Order: sequence, then structure tokens, then C-alpha cells
Amino acid sequence: MDRNEKTGHITIARRIFQGTGLLAGCLGVIVPVMSHIVFPGLHCYACPLAVTICPIGIIQNLLKTGFPLFPLAFLGLSGILLGRWWCGWICPFGLVNDIFIVLNTKKRIKQGITIATGIISLGAALLIILFLDNKWLSLIPGVFVVFVLLLLIVPYFSPGLKQKTGSVKLTGILFLIFTCFFPVVLIIDLAPLPVLILGGGFFSLILGGGMIFFFRNNKPFILKFIILILTTGFAVIAADTLFCKLCPSAALSAALPYLITNPSFIPGSMYWIKLGILLFTALCLVTVSRFFCRYLCPLGALFGLTNKLSLLKIKRSSECDAVDKNKCKYACIKSCIMGIKDIHKQKVLTQTDCIKCGKCIEACPYSHLHFCGGIA
Ligand code: SF4
Ligand code: SF4
Repeated sequence: MDRNEKTGHITIARRIFQGTGLLAGCLGVIVPVMSHIVFPGLHCYACPLAVTICPIGIIQNLLKTGFPLFPLAFLGLSGILLGRWWCGWICPFGLVNDIFIVLNTKKRIKQGITIATGIISLGAALLIILFLDNKWLSLIPGVFVVFVLLLLIVPYFSPGLKQKTGSVKLTGILFLIFTCFFPVVLIIDLAPLPVLILGGGFFSLILGGGMIFFFRNNKPFILKFIILILTTGFAVIAADTLFCKLCPSAALSAALPYLITNPSFIPGSMYWIKLGILLFTALCLVTVSRFFCRYLCPLGALFGLTNKLSLLKIKRSSECDAVDKNKCKYACIKSCIMGIKDIHKQKVLTQTDCIKCGKCIEACPYSHLHFCGGIA
């Protein structure tokens, strides 16, 4: 099988599976079969068309009163079978991440979209402020967040900041600044004040500080494990679904459709924070491929833990060691959409970030990588 033929087969198969995941999880196409079961992908069950249950949502809800045995057992079994394959081949929000990769690989489109987004959003924010009356008062916090966010993000794409590592580190710093706005914005909506300041400060410190620490130490993927701990910890201690409130997948598939289908609905500040996070994620996806899956997704963190045990594996044949790397030019590493840098050193790709997308298999000019199954 030559390289081009393999490329076609893996990519086409993955797109078919991703389409099936979208239909099964979100669009209610197979309602009688799939209704009310946990789905191994991130999607919001508040989406008007959703028929399956988001695992992160149900875990948080069950943690309020007990232990989420069934969803964890389901995810554990799914992970032992296929590891993070679910992220690469089934997850609906993974598909959204992949759609942005198309923009990510086209520099001119990337710059154009970023500049256009910045100008349009700033213009919209200014218009809203100019025509502000009482009815729009609830927009202020959201506009404030989006405004500051864009001011911070637009320079991020300017010349001189294009190197991947610089961009990734700057993303971490921006994320810290962004999270610092949570207590400020939440104060407008909720009370009591001391709890919010303490809670918001703690959230900002852990998330932002963790991001900078791990970016500095070249381990930014650990951030999603912190988010997983914060998500579950918050559900146990505060009996609240913190992740659902901030989830960009929910913003896209539930919050936006709700606004469109309910014209009388006046969004509160939390709503606009959620949309701000979606915008932030979208902008980061234009710069860093699969940004959300790499650094933020708690479901990805859970499945990542099972990658070492999973029955489906990607193996590198020993002949790779003898290949002149000036000839292959580390094509596998360059093609990796999750930014994994040690593919050429591992006999079996069990890194927590490998989503088994098969891009590296397609890219290797000598066919030295391949899928295989079993415990060995
Ligand atoms: S190592 Fe290969 S299969 Fe794993 S995420 Fe990277 S390109 Fe995909
Ligand atoms: S797997 Fe293929 S592309 Fe990657 S280092 Fe080995 S020979 Fe080169």
C-alpha cells in the first residue's frame, strides 16, 4: 500500500467516524437506540438536538450526591478498549477542533480571520456601549470580557510572535489574565462578595499559575488534568457543575441555539462569559491545532490516563531507527496535530496526548508506523 493510498483510507475513515459521532451524539438521528446513554465524547446534553449524555456533565451531577460509578466504569472500559481514539475519531467537539485546523494551516487566512474578528468584535462592542440602555445593562460584563480579551489576543497574532513555542507560552499568560476577570465579572451577578473573591482568586491562581508553570516546563498538557481535578472537586465541595457553566462546547451547541430560538431571552453575564470562552477557544484553535483537546479538555485527560492500557495501539517498527532522519525529515512529528515530539523515540505511542488520529502513520514515507491491537 503506497503512502497516498494509506492517507486516503485513514483520513476518509476518520471523517466518516467523526460524522457518525456527531449524528449519534448531537443530532438525534438514532434516537431509539442511543437515547439517554452516556456518550464517549464532549457534547452538551442541553443542545436542543442532543439525545445522549455528556460524560463530564453526568459525572459532575452524580458527584453532588454520590459516586459516578456507571459513567466512570463506562469511560474506563471505553478507554481500555481504544484509549484516546474516541477524541480523534468520535468526539463532536474534537471535530470542531479539526475544522479549525484547516485555518490553522493557512497562514494568510489565519491572519485575515484574526484581524477581521478583532475589528468586527471591537466594532460590535463599541456599538453596544454607544446604544446602551437599561435593557442592555446585562451585556456590560460580557462586552467587557470580550473587549479585553480581544485587545489581548489580537497582538498575539502580530509579527514576531508567530513561533509556536512563543505563541503557546503567550496563550498561557493570556489565559491567566482572562481567568483573573472571573471574580470581577461574577461579582456583578452573584453574592456573597468574599466567597466570590476567594473562589475566583483561587481558581485564577491554580489555573493561570498552573498554565504558566507547565508551559515554562514544556508540560502544558498537564493543565487539562488540573481542570479535571477542579471540575470534580468543585462538584463534590460546592455541588455545582462548574465546567458546564464555562464549557465552549455547551456555548456552541446549547447557549447559542437557545439565544437564537428564544428572542425574548435576555442573557446574563455568565452567558457572555461562556461565549467569551468559546471565542477565546476559537481564536486559540486558529493558532494551535487541537488547542482545546491538548490543554483544556477534562474528558481528554480521563481518556489520556487509559492510553497506556488501551488495546488499540500505534507501534513504530525498529527499522525507523536506521532511517536517515535527513531523508524522512521527521515527517511523523511534523504531521502530529497534538504536537507530540517524541514519536521517533517510542516503540509504542502511549503518550497521554495521542488521540490515535493516524496522521503520523500517513506521513511516514517509509511506513514505519502502524495500528495494531492486543495487550503486548
Ligand atoms: S502521535 Fe500520531 S496518532 Fe498520535 S496524535 Fe500524533 S499524529 Fe495522531
Ligand atoms: S516513523 Fe517514519 S517519519 Fe517518523 S522518524 Fe521514523 S522513519 Fe522518520
